[in-house]
Order: sequence, then structure tokens, then C-alpha cells
Amino acid sequence: MGLLNKYDNPFDSGNIVITGVDTLLNWSRLSSLWMMGFGLACCAIEMMAASASHYDIGRFGVIPRPSPRQSDIMIISGTVTLKMASRTKMLYEQMPDPKYILSMGSCSNCGGPYWEHGYHVLKGVDRVIPVDVYIPGCPPRPEALLEGLMKLQEKVRKQSVARTVLS
Ligand code: SF4
Repeated sequence: MGLLNKYDNPFDSGNIVITGVDTLLNWSRLSSLWMMGFGLACCAIEMMAASASHYDIGRFGVIPRPSPRQSDIMIISGTVTLKMASRTKMLYEQMPDPKYILSMGSCSNCGGPYWEHGYHVLKGVDRVIPVDVYIPGCPPRPEALLEGLMKLQEKVRKQSVARTVLS
């Protein structure tokens, strides 16, 4: 009749992608993990290097945000003192779900060089908030941070946000 065109059958238009809801959501989430900048000590210098042009963490969709309320991930980079521990927990609680924590460096992982005699240092940030990825080193190089980020992306890829929302 001449009234039918390719848009009557969207499968003919070539603009159809068939995928699962989780696959689509996770692809978008892992490609835009907004980061709350949270440098606490020397490891933060390596985190800054990872953000600069040579390592360019932004190519993974990681954009620094000034507020926990706009952030998907928090990179704990440095020494978590006992005074800072409660602040860290408060900031974590202000982040919207789903949220992720990367612990960067020995201090944040377990107290680092302050493990034995650092009376003022928390022996691992996981004593106050859950950690998704631990990045070893004192300090870890920017490449290690990028690898930790990719590990986190693998974790996000396997999650089921759709099932969580619907349950
Ligand atoms: S792990 Fe090492 S480099 Fe990182 S904050 Fe602790 S002392 Fe500094």
C-alpha cells in the first residue's frame, strides 16, 4: 500500500539493541563511577597522579565530585587516624546506594607502618566501613589504583541492580 515504512518494524531499522536490564544498567554504572576525592596522606599524591593527564583515570568515567551525595565511589587514600575514622563513616553514610569503597595503600588497608606503634591510627578502614577492593602498596603506584578500579568494575558488572530494585 505504500503506507508501511521501515519504522513500522523497528527490527528493520537497524537501531535496535537487545540486552538485559542488568547488563545495560551495569554497563552505564561501571562506565561512570563518580569519585569522592578523599586524600588523607601520602597515598593521595598517587591518586592525584592517577587523575592527571598521564594516567587519566577520567577515561574510565571516573569524575571527581566535591560531595558524598553525588559520589558512587570513595577512594580512601592515606592514613585513617582515629579522629578521622568517625568522619569517614559519616561521609560513607551520606553516599547514595549502591556505593563502593576502594582502600588505597597499606595505611588504609591495615594501618601500614603505624600498625604496631601508631596509637592514633585505625588498623584498617574496614573496621568502620565495608571495603570492596584493597589496593596494596606504600604507596601504590597509579597503575595499581587503575587495576583496583578495574577490579571494582568487574564486581559492578556482575551485580543485579534490577533484581535489588524489584525485590
Ligand atoms: S601507605 Fe605509605 S604512602 Fe600510603 S599513606 Fe601510608 S605511609 Fe603514606
